[in-house]
Amino acid sequence: MLLFTPGPTPVPESVRQAMATPTLHHRTPEFEAIFKEARERLLKLYGMDECVMLASTGTGAMQACVVNLCEKKALTINAGKFGERFGKIVESMGKELVELKYEWDTPAKIEDVKEALAANPDIDAFFVQVSESAGGLRHPVEEIAAYIKSVNPAIMVVADGITAVGVEPIEVTNIDALVTGSQKALMLPPGLAMIGLSSAAVEKIGKGKDYYFNLASEIKKQQQNTTAYTAATTLIIGLNAIFDEIDKEGLDALFEATAKRAKATQAALEAIGFEMYPQTPALSMSTVFDEDAEPIRKLLKTKYGVNMAGGQDHLKGKIFRINQMGLIPVYESAWVVNSIELALDELGRRPFDGTASRVFNQTYFKA
Ligand SMILES: *Cc1c(COP(=O)(O)O)cnc(C)c1O
Repeated sequence: MLLFTPGPTPVPESVRQAMATPTLHHRTPEFEAIFKEARERLLKLYGMDECVMLASTGTGAMQACVVNLCEKKALTINAGKFGERFGKIVESMGKELVELKYEWDTPAKIEDVKEALAANPDIDAFFVQVSESAGGLRHPVEEIAAYIKSVNPAIMVVADGITAVGVEPIEVTNIDALVTGSQKALMLPPGLAMIGLSSAAVEKIGKGKDYYFNLASEIKKQQQNTTAYTAATTLIIGLNAIFDEIDKEGLDALFEATAKRAKATQAALEAIGFEMYPQTPALSMSTVFDEDAEPIRKLLKTKYGVNMAGGQDHLKGKIFRINQMGLIPVYESAWVVNSIELALDELGRRPFDGTASRVFNQTYFKA
């Protein structure tokens, strides 16, 4: 079965092998050397001043940012499940919330942010997804971040890059915290969360807040290549192995292949009559709006060995999402669009003539 869900993504064989080595104790020079290497490579990936690794899923890192970087009032963008989650975390932490809500296909607008900031001068932190995975939507995060900093540089800009870091280059000039999780573009099993931080964020964290997610104590420990609590040793060993895999061709090659695959997939699907769901599609996944989303997904899974994701809440049964994150062999993606075309034939919607794989290959290899 080809795993084509936008997280978890398949773990490369070499990485699985690296993680199968005997258990190391985390308070040893051997593990500290591994941690140091992972930390340096992560800092380079983020292009930011500081970073922390946490033993948790991505949501833990989202919560750590809310607790440590928002004192009073948060502004959040809710254009899907994950944006909604930021709002829920803010409220559960007893902070005030101003939420800008959009349909799941609609990117956040600077004008709305402008109005919200003008009406709420006590907002001290902003939370947004770079790529909102609920609808495969790309928000104009860099532009909004630049605007916010031009109004008030003290507002912390927190970007959830869980389906964006490792997918495309992200301009971090105006971003204070960039959240990542292991099981998406970084191709690891779930359980490791990472945050890239600006020096302004480190300053605002100060002594830190919370117990488990106290970022001040983590930063202090991690600067010494250790962690406050037991490190996710196996996943950090895996992270170095992932960087080894990425470094074979380089990060730019990964970005380029991801963008080319996303573009070719979209062209192939549009060529056989599909409509992309988001107004501004993210490169992390290809999201299609279709009344037959469920029968198509079912045929792919039972007949063609492809596992794609569906939609949640009001988009349940209405969309399917094809992963583009990670080191995906291009022939697998070509097979996915071909399978979708075969499914359309079986559903009596369009006779199969090989258009999808032809357009995919032409776009990928010749455009
Ligand atoms: C997957 C995901 C998360 C985090 O989910 P966890 O299950 O906690 O790892 C957060 N934001 C986005 C955009 C995601 O895609």
